Amino acid sequence: MKIDRVELKRVKMTMREPFETSFGVEVDKEFFLALIYSDGAFGIGECGAANDPFYLEETNASVYYVVKEFLIPRMLKFDFRSPSDGIEAFRQVRGNQMAKAMLDAALWDLFAKTEGTPLFRYIGGTKTEVAVGISVGIQPTIEALVEKVGGYVDAGYKRVKIKIKPGYDLVPLRALREVFPDLPLMADANSAYSLDDLDLLRHLDDFGLTMIEQPLNYDDVYQHSILAKEIATPICLDESIRSLGDLEEAYALGACSIVNLKMPRVGGISESLKIEKFCKEHKMGLWCGGLLEAGVGRAFNVALTTLDGFNMPGDTAPSARYFEKDIINPEVVFSSAGTIAAWELPGVGCQIDDETLDKFVVTSETFEAE
Ligand SMILES: [Mg+2]
Repeated sequence: MKIDRVELKRVKMTMREPFETSFGVEVDKEFFLALIYSDGAFGIGECGAANDPFYLEETNASVYYVVKEFLIPRMLKFDFRSPSDGIEAFRQVRGNQMAKAMLDAALWDLFAKTEGTPLFRYIGGTKTEVAVGISVGIQPTIEALVEKVGGYVDAGYKRVKIKIKPGYDLVPLRALREVFPDLPLMADANSAYSLDDLDLLRHLDDFGLTMIEQPLNYDDVYQHSILAKEIATPICLDESIRSLGDLEEAYALGACSIVNLKMPRVGGISESLKIEKFCKEHKMGLWCGGLLEAGVGRAFNVALTTLDGFNMPGDTAPSARYFEKDIINPEVVFSSAGTIAAWELPGVGCQIDDETLDKFVVTSETFEAE
């Protein structure tokens, strides 16, 4: 299959409420969408990068450069026999997983659409509904946190994750445990600690957490393997796992027993499928995290989560959790409390709300095959 045209749109949306983590506050959501066309059919992908390099190195500026100068020209020349050929088409470009993932996802959508099959079935998903957890940013007071979490528990979320950072860790976790003794609860540190904090990290064991996510350096595996021997709380890796190879290394060292898979972080659906297979074979915990995605990225996450290797609730909350108005119609909503149904339409299945999207588009460029 030849791709004859790629449209690259830069989109800016406002978050419903600022989202604070250990590395800052997100107020606006600015990202790229790629639409790829072949013989009148099209596929769409959403990029996970932000304007800042605070989660990982890639930014919207780096994505734009790499996509325009290197990935789109390769895509427009390649003859794709399967969507996993994206790995081959982009092999010469090192790293830049988020840039690659946007185009890789669009290929999977295009191929599934061409076959008239919903993406989740096309990739082998077996669930038609997925369990959803919630990620709660750092709150101004403990009272505000407890109240917020209570609202999400009432709304039916299956698991609550709170962001923690030094000075905001044991106290909020203790407060939540007192009020919600049986709630599946976890903490995400986004690399805010080091092994110097071992005494503090040992106290996480007091709270019966389902996991502590990425406590140490964003690119570390070895030190996490040391920490794993010192605490009983299971370690989940997020930032450190960017490929199947990274996961193999982490598994061999015993650095984690759970993976937070973010499709944009690992270069797309193709690599995500390999990681899901590995986790299943090695009986690891696996769940789908989020990068505050708009509707398109959210729909891909739901499709991935239908694979049976995803055995823990993901951060695939409804659109209204993050945005006043999403770019898809209908928006992502609960099918029943705490669950979201997979899209049964061909491809990724979500329908773009063109009128809304047009309001949010900052720039749009088209690239055509020669
Ligand atoms: Mg994380």
